[in-house]
This record gives sequence, structure tokens and C-alpha cells, in this order.
Amino acid sequence: IEYSPSWTFFEGKWHDGNVPIMGPRTHAAWLGSVVFDGARAFEGVAPDLDRHVARANQSAINFGLKPVVDAGTWLTLANDGIARFAANAELYVRPMYWAQNGSGGGVLFDPETTNWCLCIYEAPMPKPVGNAITLSPFRRPTAESAPVEAKAACLYPNNSRALAEAASRGFQNALMLDMLGNVAEFGNSNVFMARDGVVFTPVPNGTFLNGITRQRVIKLLRADGVTVVETTLRYADFLAADEIFSTGNFAKVAPVIRIDARELKPGPLYSKARKLYWDFAHAVKLAA
Ligand code: PMP
Repeated sequence: IEYSPSWTFFEGKWHDGNVPIMGPRTHAAWLGSVVFDGARAFEGVAPDLDRHVARANQSAINFGLKPVVDAGTWLTLANDGIARFAANAELYVRPMYWAQNGSGGGVLFDPETTNWCLCIYEAPMPKPVGNAITLSPFRRPTAESAPVEAKAACLYPNNSRALAEAASRGFQNALMLDMLGNVAEFGNSNVFMARDGVVFTPVPNGTFLNGITRQRVIKLLRADGVTVVETTLRYADFLAADEIFSTGNFAKVAPVIRIDARELKPGPLYSKARKLYWDFAHAVKLAA
């Protein structure tokens, strides 16, 4: 498999490319004990990088791993790594923690064996052309049934099958409900809608990731005078929306142009959110 250019900091030094970090005996490779975060560097900026590395550590704590890298070290390493690529390169910055060993060869992982790496690789920023989205038959687990409080790798196969099922019907994203039937998030990002000039987004209820981009966009819209309501939303609310858009570190703010049979246009509140985010992102440049 060909990977885009990447650098990984692992065991005290930078490695070029897709360096092996886990063997078949590693608990994480076998049973999925991985947490991670994802941030972006692009156009000479890396918005909210500090919050992404802080969340990696919080995910480790919530999952029961040890956050063995302090936030300052993550930031220094991330900036070092970003500087290995061309200025303005479009990058994905991914800190990871995992459990190396379990006890007795079994299911229980040993947090004392927490290992980590920082992987940075080239990943073009998607153009905001607009996704067609569909209601997914697959739901988000509750906090009792999965570690939803952590950005844990083991949650993603469920989102992956939601995206695959959506793709099999010609859609680019899957709108996932929680176990109560309320809208939770997309398969890979958070969801917003606008109606009659007001922006709505699901209220965090412990079934989906309260994204860093989501929180940033809410703050920016409110500071600009837009009413943003975090509340319980049903699929029918989205069918009646004037606009729908997604937020997430990978594609940032992106419009939805179809929800099942209904077509939509990227609207003024989507455009405002994206512009406010871009202005915010470019306010602090990376050191040259
Ligand atoms: N939900 C899911 C399932 C995600 O994978 C992501 C991307 N990390 C998000 C929401 C958005 O979170 P953030 O804005 O912190 O990237």
C-alpha cells in the first residue's frame, strides 16, 4: 500500500514513512485499545492544535490509559514534525496512545504499558463541494455500552459500516441517531442545521463526540450575533431544515446538498460559519 508522505515520532525519534509501531502481540493491534486525536495544519496555520493534544490526553484518561506525554511536549513535537513538510502543506496531525500489553494474555490491558506516537502526514483539504447524506440504520452507542467519552479507535468500525452502508446507496455521509432516536452526528463529523435564521445542533448527551470544530463554530457564530441552539433534534427536523452543514477537523465546515430525497443549497449561515472559521484559523500563523 502506498501512503502519502509522513513522519512519525516513535520511541524517541522521527521516522520517515509508515513506520511499524505494533506487532501482533500488542494489545492495541489485537483488541483495539487505541485512543487518538486529529488536527490539521494547512496554509501555514494549525487551528486549535493545543485543544486537540489536550483532548488526546483526556481521551487516554477516560479510556484508562496513561497520558504519558504532557501537552507542551505534544505541541513542541507537532511543530517540529510540521516543519519537516513544505510550508503550507496540507497535513493531518495525529497523536496516538495505546496499550502495549494485557494481563495474563487476556482482555484486560495494563495502563502501565501505555505507548504512544505522533504521526503527521500529507492529506489534502477536501473542497467544500457538498455531501449527499442519508439517515443511517446504525446508531451511536450509549456511554454504558462503549467508551464514547474517549476519542477511541474501537468506536470507529461502527461509523465505518455506517459510511459504507450510506455509500452503497450513493451517499457520502451517514446521519447517525443515538439509542433514543435523536440525531447524534455524522459518521465522521458533527452536524448542524439552520431554520428561519437560527442555527441548531444536537446537545451533547454522551453519545457522540463534542467536536473541537463544533465548539469553535458555535462560539464564533454566537460572537457574530447568530442564535445557536443546542437541543434534542429528530430526523424530521433535518428534513425541514433550510440548511445543513458538518464540522470536523478534517474537512472543517462543509455544506450538505442533499438529505435523502431532498435537495438543499449551501446557504448563508453555512457560508458565515465557514468564513468565520477560516478567519479564526488564519489569525495565528505557525512559526516559519
Ligand atoms: N464526530 C466524529 C465521529 C468524528 O470522527 C469527528 C472528527 N474527529 C468529529 C465528530 C468532529 O470532531 P472535531 O471537530 O474535534 O474534529
